[in-house]
Amino acid sequence: MIQRTLSIIKPDAVKKNVSGKIISILEENGIKIVAIKMLTLSRKVAEGFYYVHKDKGFFNSLIDFMTSGPVVVMILEGDNVIEKYRKLMGATNPEKADAGTIRKLYATDIEKNAVHGSDAVETADFETRYFFNAFEINER
Ligand code: GDP
Ligand code: MG
Repeated sequence: MIQRTLSIIKPDAVKKNVSGKIISILEENGIKIVAIKMLTLSRKVAEGFYYVHKDKGFFNSLIDFMTSGPVVVMILEGDNVIEKYRKLMGATNPEKADAGTIRKLYATDIEKNAVHGSDAVETADFETRYFFNAFEINER
């Protein structure tokens, strides 16, 4: 089934100058980018995006990190792309990520882990709408 999912290239990966390498992995795996922009998240925007984690011990540190520099936000489209992209990302903790995954290749640690990806149809719907208006999403 054709799905859409939200991808974020996080501040650590933008700083390392590997945004293009990450996008190449997506394209080489047949995933289409239908929306893309670079922006620097305010605390308010980052907190709203990660509200499900607001009671976690790492929340403040996560918000500090996500607001520490620009991010690249994308909507990805493809067959079963939510799960497919999560597999390409690898485990949250890069030490546990499979060889060849984006996080194994480019993450620094469990927090500064290079990329975000929606984890289900409902979160993909919330997250894509959180960052993009309908007119910013392209038919391809
Ligand atoms: P994801 O879906 O794989 O991104 O992981 P989660 O939804 O569980 O967590 C969201 C984000 O919070 C992760 O991608 C990390 O940036 C960060 N994070 C998750 N677990 C930890 C942790 O134990 N410590 C710290 N410092 N950050 C974490
Ligand atoms: Mg998550």
